[in-house]
Amino acid sequence: MGLATARAVLERRPGAGILVIEKEDRFAAHQSGHNSGVIHAGVYYAPGSLKAHLCREGLHATIAFCRENSIPYKQCGKLIVATNPSEQKRIDALYERAIANGLKLQRLNAEQLNELEPAIVGTAALLSPETAIVDYREVCRQLAKAIEAQGAHFALGQEVESLSEQPGHVDISAGGASWRARQLITCGGLQADRLARLAGLEVTFRIIPFRGEYFQLPPSRNDLVSHLIYPAPDPSLPFLGVHLTRMIDGSVTVGPNAVIGFSREGYPKFSFNARDAASFASFGGFWKLIWTHRRHAMHELKGSLFRSAYLQECRKYCPELMISDLQPYRAGIRAQVVQADGTPLHDFLFKHTDRMLHVCNAPSPAATSAIPIGRLIAEKIGC
Ligand SMILES: Cc1cc2nc3c(=O)[nH]c(=O)nc-3n(C[C@H](O)[C@H](O)[C@H](O)COP(=O)(O)OP(=O)(O)OC[C@H]3O[C@@H](n4cnc5c(N)ncnc54)[C@H](O)[C@@H]3O)c2cc1C
Repeated sequence: MGLATARAVLERRPGAGILVIEKEDRFAAHQSGHNSGVIHAGVYYAPGSLKAHLCREGLHATIAFCRENSIPYKQCGKLIVATNPSEQKRIDALYERAIANGLKLQRLNAEQLNELEPAIVGTAALLSPETAIVDYREVCRQLAKAIEAQGAHFALGQEVESLSEQPGHVDISAGGASWRARQLITCGGLQADRLARLAGLEVTFRIIPFRGEYFQLPPSRNDLVSHLIYPAPDPSLPFLGVHLTRMIDGSVTVGPNAVIGFSREGYPKFSFNARDAASFASFGGFWKLIWTHRRHAMHELKGSLFRSAYLQECRKYCPELMISDLQPYRAGIRAQVVQADGTPLHDFLFKHTDRMLHVCNAPSPAATSAIPIGRLIAEKIGC
């Protein structure tokens, strides 16, 4: 988000003095480098919503950026599979939504699905041929290269520690250095609530880290599927369900699930960070969320602890998967904004002052939508 926003500012104001501050020694060290690598086509979002509009624009803008910068991507298409009558109703509703959003979508019956993907079993499916895959770490590398060529500067390995807005400028300190900026945009992902608080903004929500744990198929099974295979999503949850994802390097991942993480940036299983855990344990909204979704939370926890339970999820639509097919793979961690009443926020959240704009929530598909969101931000700050 930060790199795409810097690029958008430079599009509107060539030559603008831009500094991108990043606490890690490289870009895409967190969500943008630990995701499924899908360029979404916008099947899921309410017609007319900002999320739907930004996703459609993001699909085209990301593919155009990949073409311009020789980044490998592939429009391999995606199948959303129903395995029983109630899931079939859900994908019927999705179909109506997607058509209203202007998507090219095909309905498939069980035979057509089986013909297209012999390893996948379902009663019906939706095919989104536009959905694509890419490595977002490469997208970030190329974004950084593009903005550097336009004069942007980087301060890598410097964690923002203080922010102070004054009538004519913003003072920023990070890793022993300090800067004075006319305007500041923060895109802090998993740390977005802390950055907003650091700047003195009122923050009533909290970021709860949700681990997305993946497995990877052994290379001998890489040709198991040729599309991305998703289950029919549960509309009450912000996550899409465990899917089979073809990656741009030809491998296939299985996942991600969604379990509470005890560390915002701790990727190994059972990572624990006392500050991060205290942050959500002391927040009433977290307990309300857990209580409302207790059955689902237990289900996800079971899948996280026992590979056999995880396997059961995927075998609903891919019965030939075996436990030996689930090989270890890295996890990702989602920044899920939860409000004080326990409601997870599904939409983008920006907080604006005279000289600052904080991106407080940039949920999936923000990797897909980053380029148009960056343009929206550049417009919002009056560039
Ligand atoms: C498991 C998983 C799967 C996903 N799959 C997809 C997908 O297939 N397609 C899709 O479109 N979206 C997907 N998403 C969502 C998408 O990856 C995120 O919405 C997007 O990457 C968010 O980008 P961001 O820049 O806001 O956050 P991040 O990529 O997390 O970047 C935030 C940056 O801020 C830096 N930072 C934080 N605090 C400070 C500080 N104090 N000082 C300096 N720097 C700081 C961090 O180091 C980090 O580099 C997925 C997400 C996850 C976790």
